[in-house]
Amino acid sequence: MFLNKMLINGEWISTEKTMDVTNPATEEKIGSIPNGGAKEAQMAVDAASEAFTTWSKRTAEDRGRLLMKWFQLIEENIDELAEIMTTEQGKSLKEARGEIAYSNSFISWFAEEGKRIYGETIPASSPNKRLFVQKQPIGVVAAITPWNFPAAMITRKLAPALAAGCTVVLKPSEETPFTALRLAQLAEEAGIPKGVVNVVTGEAAPISEVWQNDGRVRKLTFTGSTRVGKILMSGASETVKKLSLELGGHAPLIITKRADMEKAVEQAVASKFRNGGQTCVCTNRIFVEESVAEEFTTKFTAKVAELRVGNGLDESTDIGPLINKSAVDKVKAQIEDAVQKGGEILTGGHALTDQKGFFIEPTVIKNATDDMLCMYEETFGPLAPITTFTDVDDAIRRANNSPYGLAAYVFTEDIKEAIHIVEALEYGIIGLNDGGPSAAQAPFGGFKESGLGREGSRHGIEDFLEMKYISLGL
Ligand code: NAD
Repeated sequence: MFLNKMLINGEWISTEKTMDVTNPATEEKIGSIPNGGAKEAQMAVDAASEAFTTWSKRTAEDRGRLLMKWFQLIEENIDELAEIMTTEQGKSLKEARGEIAYSNSFISWFAEEGKRIYGETIPASSPNKRLFVQKQPIGVVAAITPWNFPAAMITRKLAPALAAGCTVVLKPSEETPFTALRLAQLAEEAGIPKGVVNVVTGEAAPISEVWQNDGRVRKLTFTGSTRVGKILMSGASETVKKLSLELGGHAPLIITKRADMEKAVEQAVASKFRNGGQTCVCTNRIFVEESVAEEFTTKFTAKVAELRVGNGLDESTDIGPLINKSAVDKVKAQIEDAVQKGGEILTGGHALTDQKGFFIEPTVIKNATDDMLCMYEETFGPLAPITTFTDVDDAIRRANNSPYGLAAYVFTEDIKEAIHIVEALEYGIIGLNDGGPSAAQAPFGGFKESGLGREGSRHGIEDFLEMKYISLGL
């Protein structure tokens, strides 16, 4: 179940040095992975570069067929994949199964989308010329992914890359490598040829340095923190690579007096507490219009208090552990800071220290103010600060006052008000009366320091393509 080797050029490889992987719900070691470095990173690029010569020449239909076989195998193994994910990452089995299905939706979407990589013909200025544009795969792609969505962050990159005709070197998060390795094994079983998908496990910096500096890697696609995204942005300049960055977020959620309150409460809970608050699009700051603040706060707090915290493998669990101790410490520090600055805890507020595992109670704080850490620093945990407003433009200004610009949520039934707020928000993704906007067919990505480029949708394949203009003289 927990593969302890990495995949390079169709070979499953070990290294002398290994890294342990733990279950965040029990703090027990569940296995270990090879601690690969520069040598393995280089071998992976060699393999991907060689495989590119043939993979890029196959038809889109042919590649799509192999992707659909991979899709099928993932579907057949959904329970096993979900269990691996819950054991290494902590999210509930229910959410893990949901993530596998979501991950697979990228594969089926891009298996089809690869067939629609259209070129152009352009009217020439001379009767003796014909002008054409064709798109072709960019080359070897390096992908670096985080732990919070151990499968979806991989397929959102690999599916368009492979559909476009690129080959991939992947470094999954060292916290959640087993889901990645099993996905790669299923890709192999599906008949995706050796060298097309290579997975290198180990410490990030030495692996990534090789990929940044190797001119054969033509694209770097990263999902993770803004801090590491900035390192990679400067590293990619060395060989002027194409770069996609899906980085941090600090999503505001605005509820006006014209909202459908039941819907706002239900969707706010979903959007705040999905994956224990550890998603880049999680609601982190709740702005409620003063006249409905009490009603919202009471109903929201009651629902949050019902959420069951526990080991994700237990089917009754809603919220699993956070990924590690420093994640718990960060949320605790935000809670303490908020209380010290006048915030009032309505439910939760404590880390569960009398048991093993990195658990913290789902927490609601009212009277939040913009000088609190939780109002300007990405939370990545189950903490919901509530603040109020009387002027909607003031709420928009405060919502936009962030270096991040990934997702934002708006609840109002008034169409004019909705358009006004949506157009003013400086965010790449807006959930308008919707706490779960992510979908394979829609563009995912952020403004400002939340990143560059879009994943998913017809736009998500473009970054894996080069445009070639051909001027034909007759
Ligand atoms: P992280 O940046 O610490 O790690 C992400 C990946 O980068 C991991 O594989 C890690 O090993 C690697 N890495 C770490 N240091 C590196 C270095 N110096 N050079 C190259 N690679 C390095 O992020 P994380 O803690 O795994 O994930 C949480 C972050 O990811 C949050 O900020 C979250 O908002 C963001 N995220 C964004 C999206 C999105 O789509 N925008 C989705 C999920 C997560």
